[in-house]
Amino acid sequence: MRKVGFIGWRGMVGSVLIKRMIEESDFSDFDSYFFSTSQAGQKNPEWNISFKNETLIDAFDIQELSKMDILMSCQGGEYTSKVFSQLRNIKWEGHWIDAASTLRMKEDSLIVLDPINKKSIDKAYDSGIKNWVGGNCTVSLMLLAISGLLEKNLIDWVSSMTYQAASGAGANNMRELLIQMGQIHSSVSDDLDGHNLNILDVDNKALQAMNSEKFQKSNFQVPLAGNLIPWIDEDLNNGQSREEWKGQSETNKILAIDFNPIKVDGLCVRIATMRSHCQALTLKLNKNIPIEEINDIIANGNEWIKFIPNKKEQSVNLLSPAQVSGKLNIAVGRVRKLDIDQNCISIFTVGDQLLWGAAEPIRRMLKILINKGNSK
Ligand code: NAP
Repeated sequence: MRKVGFIGWRGMVGSVLIKRMIEESDFSDFDSYFFSTSQAGQKNPEWNISFKNETLIDAFDIQELSKMDILMSCQGGEYTSKVFSQLRNIKWEGHWIDAASTLRMKEDSLIVLDPINKKSIDKAYDSGIKNWVGGNCTVSLMLLAISGLLEKNLIDWVSSMTYQAASGAGANNMRELLIQMGQIHSSVSDDLDGHNLNILDVDNKALQAMNSEKFQKSNFQVPLAGNLIPWIDEDLNNGQSREEWKGQSETNKILAIDFNPIKVDGLCVRIATMRSHCQALTLKLNKNIPIEEINDIIANGNEWIKFIPNKKEQSVNLLSPAQVSGKLNIAVGRVRKLDIDQNCISIFTVGDQLLWGAAEPIRRMLKILINKGNSK
């Protein structure tokens, strides 16, 4: 049995990954070893799977890591930057699967999203590629949402305006959002009980709580509850955030388009949802196609699409994070031709960024490697 080492299983992506792997009985296909950056020597988590390690192994111990045939990291970019090159420097030849962005654009890495790029994965495997990286969450979710249109080469450009959940920033940020919600509620809870509510007074107290020194914001730096943050990831100093830059660069890398890239751009915004990212897409198609045909193409893009007809009741009830979180469905709706141009359409899409946006592509990549039966 091949040896697979897991790092970062305690975080947002890692815990969703492990849950999916248990659901799919993936752990029976290989020997599992668990590493930790913060709990080496402590007890294994209480999951009903067989652990080959007796206690958690130090995730910075290069010799221990190098005993693995496959390493699966959901620990984050800082960890990848510290450990990956040390492993390759001692000639470790195993497969590295990663959720972090660090290695995504490297020439010797492939961004994995097998419903879209299985052929590229097979080709890369045959050519000796050993670094497999999950894509940016909004990019993977967008590509799945519009896969039918991509398949038929109908897209000229895409503008993606995102509404990204707190959990996209990690476990501690999700916790902080809940604490912030509680702090706002506490600041006005007495007023909410009475019938003589003075809404301007309540609004003012809530705003004061959000802007007070005591408001917890060590992770987001600013309030997210009752607010939004119109910037995600680094400032590239050209007016674009790194999250926005990933849209075009990762899309074209995943689609293996070297010339005439599909243009993708837009603004990425963090909102106070817990889980699941939403995107309002504007697409310019290269043909004027009837809306019924467009709907059919989108709805039949792949088996995970849940197509929501562009009607108020269905949109309000089904096209939301509360409906999609925890599911593998990619909800796609609000499809209509825009008055500005007959070739332009709108789409609103919601997907669980921890599932298809992060854990699922790398879970499936591990399965692909195991099935290929040759991990070294
Ligand atoms: P995360 O929740 O912050 O977890 C990363 C690590 O932080 C954990 O493995 C854990 O390591 C440590 N940690 C510290 N405090 C924790 C706490 N209270 N609960 C759980 N873990 C805690 O990060 P993540 O969101 O999973 O992201 C991991 C990587 O995936 C990042 O590179 C991220 O960019 C990428 N990614 C994330 C998403 C997403 O939606 N979140 C989507 C796509 C890609 P120890 O157990 O070793 O202490």
